[in-house]
Formats: sequence, structure tokens, C-alpha cells
Amino acid sequence: MQTAFVWDDALASYRFTATHPMNPRRLQLTLELIRRLGLIEADQVVAPRRASDDELLLAHAPELVDAVRRASAGEVFPGAARFGLGTDDVPIVEGMHDAAAHIVGATLTAAELVMSGRAKRAFNISGGLHHARRAESAGFCVYNDLAVAIRWMQKQHGARVLYIDYDAHHGDGVQWIFYDDPDALTLSFHESGAFLFPGTGFVEETGAGDGVGYSVNMPLDAHTEDDSFEAVFRALVPDIVKAYEPDVIVLQCGCDAHVLDPLTHLRCTTGLFERMTRLVCDVADEHCEGRVVATGGGGYAIYKVVPRAWTLVWAALNGIDAPDVIPDDYLRMLRLECGELVPSTLRDAPDAFLPSDRRAAATETNTRTLGSVRRAVLPLLTGWGLGF
Ligand SMILES: [Zn+2]
Repeated sequence: MQTAFVWDDALASYRFTATHPMNPRRLQLTLELIRRLGLIEADQVVAPRRASDDELLLAHAPELVDAVRRASAGEVFPGAARFGLGTDDVPIVEGMHDAAAHIVGATLTAAELVMSGRAKRAFNISGGLHHARRAESAGFCVYNDLAVAIRWMQKQHGARVLYIDYDAHHGDGVQWIFYDDPDALTLSFHESGAFLFPGTGFVEETGAGDGVGYSVNMPLDAHTEDDSFEAVFRALVPDIVKAYEPDVIVLQCGCDAHVLDPLTHLRCTTGLFERMTRLVCDVADEHCEGRVVATGGGGYAIYKVVPRAWTLVWAALNGIDAPDVIPDDYLRMLRLECGELVPSTLRDAPDAFLPSDRRAAATETNTRTLGSVRRAVLPLLTGWGLGF
């Protein structure tokens, strides 16, 4: 199989409150669009398995799992806040352990499919919960499915894992869990922590102990648009893959860098996510037999952006060109549900949004930061010297 889509309806039960921005309806709308465009065969859909407690403990402290279990009964208890639970970002809701563990199981299933060779690539759109730390839930993320799956691939397959994250927020949870580990390289592209949660992901965060050089951050100016984002992505990803020679790439495909996303300030369009995913697949084909374990992530414009962005990501993972026009009946359904006009093509038209009046300044800042990243990290990774 070229690419598997890991899914069952229970993955849409990861829901905090009616007004919480993390709304699983976006997942159902994405799969529906993929289906209506005829971009998926029935045998590409694989049901997730359950994650065991031992697997959760690959990346999490037992105290956190215990606390989430308690919270999962709907009980607000003293000390919950120590684990990041009962906050605005991660409210306590009944059933939260099962729902979060199910998403971990889905990313583990994706990892198994890819590492066993049953699929070249796999996509879990419900995953990508990159903010959860070893002993603390954070930023809408109860458990860190990415970190569990990376540890599982290291343990079961002795894999060297390259983690690439193009979500608008820094992939902090994954970074900190592997901060001293040279067998997982984390590479995050995000709106600078100077402007956005979680306030980390600066160039100087390059790893600790044996892991020095294996944590790479490319913080972006808040006004970044497609061209500048893509330029820094292309300037780093192939060189890092070549220097690191991973066995597999884990790709977090958050689409909240889109200009319509309500939670961030970046100004990108859906076509960027398609092009970046394609590039990752190309370098994976060249260096690690095509192995890519992809997940969703952030994306809070649930009608206007997420289904279009992740349909393009899915097509890219399959190495196919998705048609641009969205079927009328799907658009009608969306308009009825959200009460607003939604874009009628997968890729935003070049003139769909006004350019930022800070375009030149943002591009200049990003180019300068890129130089710092390359100088800070590539010599450590390659030993080619500072002139590289
Ligand atoms: Zn995000």
C-alpha cells in the first residue's frame, strides 16, 4: 500500500467543551472531502489499535497518566493543575483518558504500518498533539502521540527518527522529551515564541548532553507568507535529512499557519502545506525508503481551512495531484453548517488575500534567522565546519 489513512469514528471523541477551539468536527469534514473527491480507496482506511499503559509510559510519567485517569472520571481534584489539567487549554472532561489514549493508539498504528512495510506512509489526522510534556498536559494536548510513537519506533525497530513540525506553534513537547537524545532529531518551523504560545522554539535551543545539535528551531516572523516559509523550509529540510540520514520521518502537519486561522498571525495559504509535504516525501524517498508517519495538529479555521489543507496533505502523501475544484454538494453542506461562504478550491487563489505590508521586513528577518540556524546546527550535525 502506498499510503494508509488511520481512522475510526471514536477518534472524533477528543472534545473538551462546546466552545473549545480544538474541534474534532474538522476531522470528519476532512475525511468527507477526501472521499467526495475520490482520493481514497476503502482498503487504505485502517482502524487504530489501542495504546497500552506501558506504551503511554514510553513518553509519559506514571503520575501524569494516573492524574488523567482521575480527571477522566470528571472529577476536579486538588493538584490537577500541577499536571496542566483543569486549565482553559486542557479542561477536565469525562472520558478524556480514553479519547486521548485512542489518538496515541492511532499514531502507533501509523508507525507500525510504516515500519512493518505494510504501508510506505501513513496519516493520522487526529494526532499531532505536540505540546504535551512528559509529566504535563498542555496546549490542548493531553498525551503526546508523536513522542510515544517515536519512542516505540526507537525501541521496537532501533530507528533513528527525524521529527519535522510545520505547525504554527513550536513543537515544544516533542522537543523537550527528546532534548538529550541523539536518536531523535526534532526540527520545528513555527511563529516565533516572542509572539505566540508556547513562547519557546528559539534558535539557541539546540539540545542538551548527547542530544546537542539534535534540536533545531526555525522561528518565523509573525507576518510570514508562503514564499518566505517555503524558502526556509527548502533551505533546511534536505540538508538536515542528508546530514542525519534518518530511518523514518515523523511529520506534524498542523495547518494553523494559514492566514485565516484565528489563533496565529502567520499569513500562509493551503498550497504551502501541499508543497512542504511533497518535499518531505521526496527527501524520504531519497534517504529512508519513503517512510513518513504523518499526523494532523493545529488548525482552528475548521470550515474554511482544515479540510482543504489536509486533503492536499493526503494527496501529497499519496504522490497524486488533487483536483482543485471542491464539489458543489460538499460546499453546500459546509455553508449550511457554518452559515458562511467557504473557499471553493483546495488551493487558495494567488490573489485571495491581501499581501502583508510587512512582507519585505518579514522575509528579511526570516533570511537572517535562517543563517543563524544553519550556523548553529549544521556544523554540529555534519562536522563540515562553520563555513558550511
Ligand atoms: Zn498549532
